[in-house]
Amino acid sequence: MATARFEQPASLSQVTDLLAAGGWSLLAGGTDVYPARVGRAMDGAWIDLTRVGGLRGVREDEHGWTFGATTTWTDVLRADLPPLFDALKQAAREVGGVQIQNTGTVAGNLCNASPAADGTPVWMALDAQVLLQSQAGERRMPVAEFVLANRRTARAPHELVTGLHVPRRSARARSVFLKLGGRRYLVISVTMVAVVIDVDTDVDGSGRVAQLAAAVGSCSARAQRLPALEARLRGQPLLALAGTAIDPSDLAPLSPIADVRASAAYRLDATATLLRRALRALACVSPSPPGRGQG
Ligand SMILES: Cc1cc2nc3c(=O)[nH]c(=O)nc-3n(C[C@H](O)[C@H](O)[C@H](O)COP(=O)(O)OP(=O)(O)OC[C@H]3O[C@@H](n4cnc5c(N)ncnc54)[C@H](O)[C@@H]3O)c2cc1C
Repeated sequence: MATARFEQPASLSQVTDLLAAGGWSLLAGGTDVYPARVGRAMDGAWIDLTRVGGLRGVREDEHGWTFGATTTWTDVLRADLPPLFDALKQAAREVGGVQIQNTGTVAGNLCNASPAADGTPVWMALDAQVLLQSQAGERRMPVAEFVLANRRTARAPHELVTGLHVPRRSARARSVFLKLGGRRYLVISVTMVAVVIDVDTDVDGSGRVAQLAAAVGSCSARAQRLPALEARLRGQPLLALAGTAIDPSDLAPLSPIADVRASAAYRLDATATLLRRALRALACVSPSPPGRGQG
């Protein structure tokens, strides 16, 4: 009979010591790990990260925001965050139902490396860095370099992810996440888009796109940024975003598959529609910063 071993360390150093010894797998909310083992007894050696001190919650400093690895999607929804993170909150609301959001973590979603992970395109559009820890110390890398392929990341077996760091933007930065599935709720994405913009204010008070990042999930083995679209829209008047046409060349980084959920052509068509809607939503917001200080 299969037997499993569980450890519930309270400190990061205990986790890195166990990982250095080899043979251990990591467990956070378990909402990806357990469904992958339905009908099978758990076996192997597991480190439960949910009791490790300092890994949960959102910290802000002058450089930006750090989301601890075991921060749940409900924690994201409840956090006091500026409009830059609207897309992250919109994605958090789409990850399963409330029970899943109460348990599933931001790092678990990323490390599972599903092409349909709702968080990944948002982190990519936010230019987030993945924080990795081992006995040897910390290293960090952009999300786009961390997720290598379907179910594959750049994490070494002796490392854990301790969090995601999002660099500070202006107080005018904001974002949108849109997801399409076969039904409205509790559904795996057919496609999803995340767009982040930062805005300059012209002398006449109108807005201009200072920075724009767009990422698409569920349309390739891993989420992809759209550099051609981003370059074309940078410097444009904010209001012009509302009429943006999506050119097929904008979607060149995508390589969608056809499966039970949608054909490849439908995925591309739906992605263009979601991008147009996201850009229209971002065009319609005031270029003035909201009332709270953000640096
Ligand atoms: C009913 C249901 C509906 C769902 N709906 C959605 C959905 O709509 N959208 C969506 O994106 N996902 C969905 N999911 C998947 C899942 O809930 C999310 O991906 C969740 O965020 C996973 O987090 P977790 O903490 O439960 O991960 P776990 O299951 O604990 O771990 C997932 C993987 O990440 C690794 N891992 C976890 N933490 C770390 C760490 N700190 N460092 C390194 N590796 C780590 C684990 O070893 C494992 O390989 C759904 C799941 C269920 C069961």
